[in-house]
Amino acid sequence: MSILSTEQLTKQYGAEPNIVKALDSVSISIEPGEFVAIIGTSGSGKSTLLNMLGGLDRPTSGTVKVDNYELGKLRDEDLTVFRRQRIGFIFQNYNLVPILNVYENIVMPIQLDGKKPDTQFIKEIAALLGLEKKLHNMPNTLSGGQQQRVAIARALASKPAIILADEPTGNLDSKTSDEVIELLKVTSQKFHQTIVMITHNPEIAARADRTIHIEDGRIAQ
Ligand code: ADP
Ligand code: ADP
Repeated sequence: MSILSTEQLTKQYGAEPNIVKALDSVSISIEPGEFVAIIGTSGSGKSTLLNMLGGLDRPTSGTVKVDNYELGKLRDEDLTVFRRQRIGFIFQNYNLVPILNVYENIVMPIQLDGKKPDTQFIKEIAALLGLEKKLHNMPNTLSGGQQQRVAIARALASKPAIILADEPTGNLDSKTSDEVIELLKVTSQKFHQTIVMITHNPEIAARADRTIHIEDGRIAQ
């Protein structure tokens, strides 16, 4: 059974006569534990698709299912809780909080959720990502690759079943990109996570188990 799926997913922006169809009847199905890359050129609809999969935005029509929940049926408040509990997000620009140190950044979503971080688990993740000596550092003292590893640690910290990554290597050189993708693969296998990653880079996409091509808002064969 799929962990993440869409049916006839359509998203339009704007109003007549200036409608942009960012997604047009997209149906995809992702199995638990899969590492899927979504590849397409700029403006093809990748971010829109990822935002819909993560419940960050609502479709114009069609459905998104996570586990067996149809996201469109959840109220905004419930959707927020659902997202926090099941989905970890990773972004191109890392989105770290500059005034918090590495440890504080990693545990921030858990604290926002009103929970106490599992310190042992946080240390385990930090060690896996080579961050054990950086926990007291501020983000601006880290390289781009290190900052992205902090963002990965933050995404993993709440033990989500699904990781959604939007151009996670977009700001990294190719060697660092390779390392970051390898770490994503290792941690997702260790924690039985499903990863959906957006990229416009075919070499990065080739590291995934499966690639979905998107072109002008449609799945390309
Ligand atoms: P990608 O991530 O592949 O670059 P996007 O999903 O960001 O593509 O965009 C798909 C299309 O939707 C583009 O034509 C883009 O200009 C348009 N678009 C995206 N977000 C908005 C928005 N908030 N308002 C209007 N148009 C948008
Ligand atoms: P708990 O109360 O859950 O035992 P602590 O606050 O004692 O957690 O922290 C346990 C460990 O986590 C500390 O020894 C330290 O290594 C790390 N840690 C906690 N807070 C920070 C922080 N703000 N910056 C860096 N590391 C921290």
